[in-house]
Amino acid sequence: MTAEGKIEPVDPVALAAELIRCPSVTPADAGAIDVLARALERLGFTCTKLEFAEPGTEPVLNLYARLGNAGRNFCYAGHTDVVPVGRRESWTVDPFGGEIVGGTLYGRGAADMKGGIAAFVAGVARFLASRGGALDGSISLLITGDEEGVSINGTRKVLEWLSAKGEKLDACVVGEPTSAKRLGDMVKVGRRGSMTGTLVVKGVQGHTAYPQLADNPIHRMVRMLHALTREPLDNGSEHFQPSTLQITTTDVGNPASNVIPAEARAVFNIRFNDRWTSATLDGWARERIAETGGEYDLRWSVSGESFLTPPARVSELLSRAIERVTGRTPELSTTGGTSDARFIVRHCPVAEFGLVGQTMHKVDERVPVADLGTLAEIYRAALDLYFPAA
Ligand SMILES: [Zn+2]
Repeated sequence: MTAEGKIEPVDPVALAAELIRCPSVTPADAGAIDVLARALERLGFTCTKLEFAEPGTEPVLNLYARLGNAGRNFCYAGHTDVVPVGRRESWTVDPFGGEIVGGTLYGRGAADMKGGIAAFVAGVARFLASRGGALDGSISLLITGDEEGVSINGTRKVLEWLSAKGEKLDACVVGEPTSAKRLGDMVKVGRRGSMTGTLVVKGVQGHTAYPQLADNPIHRMVRMLHALTREPLDNGSEHFQPSTLQITTTDVGNPASNVIPAEARAVFNIRFNDRWTSATLDGWARERIAETGGEYDLRWSVSGESFLTPPARVSELLSRAIERVTGRTPELSTTGGTSDARFIVRHCPVAEFGLVGQTMHKVDERVPVADLGTLAEIYRAALDLYFPAA
């Protein structure tokens, strides 16, 4: 904002290129947060840089920026960190050059997700300019440098910091590249959960010629695994594919053909929809395993619960904004890998929408320059719908 309160426009392409020129491969920041903070401060945002470092991990820089200090707080969440470039020789451009070739912006992070962040800042500038700088509410950005890595010193910690301050988010858009083929064709409204079970079946070691003196744990493990796989977990739900269970290994490690082993072990991974939680699946698995009887030990590692943002909240807002700008009706999807939305969903309604993700994490990552302008318009339209003009 200038002294007269005039909002200067933000060019999403120039800002995205400037961010790409910071080689912020997790956990390095390389100046990316400062580039973003400077652009936001020009729009009147108050920026707080937050560095977190759990013992044994590298420190990570995060940013919480807020404009306005009253009313409903609309948050845009994302990450400035990027994955490594891989084989440098395979790139046709400098991965950290931010070059534009034939109407396309190239560079690591162009799609995932420096382009999205730049589009959001440009969208906010356009929105504020259209309202003469007046805002009846608050707009915030929650930006982490720890999304592509272990995600320990990032969004989760910033959310804890916000809660401790009594600061609240009322709606959140995560700007991950969710579009599949064309900008606006897909909004993510949730994700499947993932958990891995390790089953150890205990028996009694013995001679294969005298099985009556032993108890073979493999025989029981086979029956237990059959009980876990004999029918589908479910048939899916309104927004999710069916849940799946896949056995990933069975291990006994017994080199002797005349010895019944004392122990057998199996590992299986479950991808589950919103008809289950890790707790209900634990109960289900134990019930099935107990049918066989005998001694066993079952331990879980839960990577994440499934979550669904009820349609008619943020996803509805995004759908309307996308239709208004592109004429497209996005599919509401729960496919794909995980994102920080899994942490945010515990704090406020959230949905994910951003650029076309086809080149993310690949060599020659890129985004059409035109898409950055269109995405800025969509984000502006979302703000327009969230904060109706008086
Ligand atoms: Zn990402």
